[in-house]
Amino acid sequence: MNHQFPSLPYTYDALEPYIDAKTMEVHYSKHHRTYFDKFITAITGTELENLSLEEIFASVSTLPAAIRNNGGGYYNHIVYWECMSPNAKSVPEGNLAQQIDQTFGGLEQFKDLFADTAMNTFGSGFVWLVATPTGELEIISTPNQDNPLMDIIATEGTPILALDVWEHAYYLSYQNKRPEYINAWWNVVDWQVVEDKYHQAVK
Ligand code: MN
Repeated sequence: MNHQFPSLPYTYDALEPYIDAKTMEVHYSKHHRTYFDKFITAITGTELENLSLEEIFASVSTLPAAIRNNGGGYYNHIVYWECMSPNAKSVPEGNLAQQIDQTFGGLEQFKDLFADTAMNTFGSGFVWLVATPTGELEIISTPNQDNPLMDIIATEGTPILALDVWEHAYYLSYQNKRPEYINAWWNVVDWQVVEDKYHQAVK
């Protein structure tokens, strides 16, 4: 078994006032934990037990829904936690900044398009910034706990930024006001992490 429930990289109250401690506690210790536990139950004793998440996602369309939903929930939240920090670097630099300028016309234009995509994601899901192996960038919205590594999503790339738009991510502080949550979330997006993920994704 090569899966472990990851520790949260900061305390529950670290992202306040943008994301409140109670939301973080419930989101991490209940929602994320449940996806992880159900995923482990679903793969235990099967041939999937020793595969990586990437390998499982690459053929997830042929697997039971419990694996798609809970494996996605396990992975997606790891990326979401990693991309946030109480000491976030507020703007990207270097190759990633250049590529954002080239693709979207600038950081503000990128943030507007990313936020629009999040607003237009109906119901529950995630919004991703994905980098292809040649360094191109794409914004992708996926429903429920799907993600861009899954063979059901028509893209070849690695997620380098994740935004959870399930109501459980923001309801306690923002109720139904998803735009306010997205506005607040930019304050804790750590562009150093996104840059590092970009460099790892580009071969
Ligand atoms: Mn979530």
